[in-house]
Amino acid sequence: MKAWRASLLYFPEPAQAVLETDGLLVVGPDAGGRQVVQAVGSYSALAPRFPGLEVTHLPGRIIAPGFVDMHIHYPQLDVIGSPAEGLLPWLENYTFPHEKRFTDPAYSAEAATFFIAELLRHGVTTALAFATSHPESVDALLGEAQRRSLRLIAGKVLMDQNAPDGVRDATEQSLIDTEALITRWHGVDRLGYAITPRFVPSCSEAQLRGAGELAARYTDVWIQSHVAENRDEVAWVRELYPQARSYLSVYEQFGLLRPRAVYAHCIHIDDEDRALMRGTGTAAAVSPTSNLFLGSGFFDYAAADRTGFLYGLASDVGGGTSFSPFHTMLAAYYVGREGQTKTGVSLKPQQLWWQHTAGAARALGLEGVAGNLLPGCEADFVVLNPQATPLLARKTAQAGSLDELLFALIVLGDDRVIERTVISQAASTTWPDHEEVSAK
Ligand SMILES: [Zn+2]
Repeated sequence: MKAWRASLLYFPEPAQAVLETDGLLVVGPDAGGRQVVQAVGSYSALAPRFPGLEVTHLPGRIIAPGFVDMHIHYPQLDVIGSPAEGLLPWLENYTFPHEKRFTDPAYSAEAATFFIAELLRHGVTTALAFATSHPESVDALLGEAQRRSLRLIAGKVLMDQNAPDGVRDATEQSLIDTEALITRWHGVDRLGYAITPRFVPSCSEAQLRGAGELAARYTDVWIQSHVAENRDEVAWVRELYPQARSYLSVYEQFGLLRPRAVYAHCIHIDDEDRALMRGTGTAAAVSPTSNLFLGSGFFDYAAADRTGFLYGLASDVGGGTSFSPFHTMLAAYYVGREGQTKTGVSLKPQQLWWQHTAGAARALGLEGVAGNLLPGCEADFVVLNPQATPLLARKTAQAGSLDELLFALIVLGDDRVIERTVISQAASTTWPDHEEVSAK
């Protein structure tokens, strides 16, 4: 067992954080050999229970759960920051040409290595990621995640229509490839597979039906896709499925709404769609930097909470503009505040942070596994430096409450705040050797 003494941030209740200012985090193997939190709480109360335990003391630092990113595209590393007139031209001019390169395993491997290093540098320890339509791109990403002992979920994109040569796949082969990848990767170490239809316009009815059949056969495999991001896209789906009640209902028709199904955006939806999400256990991946960058619209937090479906935060790189959970949380605050097209709300700092950690884990069906530091959770965590920049040091020193401290970090923080990202499953025994140190 190992232990860390520092300020500890964690979530005893949904959206309710605790900061133990002089805390102790004790990590050790569970019955299955996974490194999990054995105890968390105040140093003075816990230390006597663990005599002789080697304790790493990190004065002035905050240990917090590793962040959970519910939606990100690893092949879009180099698409980030590309100018375009909205979603559909952005896909055509930047995303599809770039994704073609992932047919080359060496190219995929280099991108996967960079991508995972970048996640860790930003404190992200769990992610649900799109690969490309090439099975090699999934092997590269999950192979690298396995090497770094990461909890990662990914899938081969399904797109057999309305896509250019080089990224378009063949219906029957795409489903065979998907099933082979499920068998190869799902449940291996901490890896998971996600059945990944890109979005309705890019998939034939036969491909969506096949995806739904796989989702019914492999019930603990994830599903990831996009829905109702942009009005042009919604209109396109209405042309393709004039009988469907809504865009979301097309996925329902093919059996693609269920627990562990995660849909990015969910902006242009109505209360009937929201009830459908709640009723089926489907989750939304809220992607605020992407939605602001592409001008897609604003996720309606008040309506989501009124209807009570699951959601959490996501970077949506490369439509999103940053890997940083701090930037995503701040953008979510902007999106919540927007009150001209929907009800404006001021999301509480603890609520924002929860949406990117334990709340996101819950939406992924990983409550009690990832995104928190309660006993039994996998011990992936970040060491935060609240003095990382002069202004942040000045501001956090004046914080009079936990919300003021967290909001200072959300508004002023970035990768400089992430001093270390620790993946406790990594094979090794002593600090600092077992840690995954950022690339700084
Ligand atoms: Zn996306």
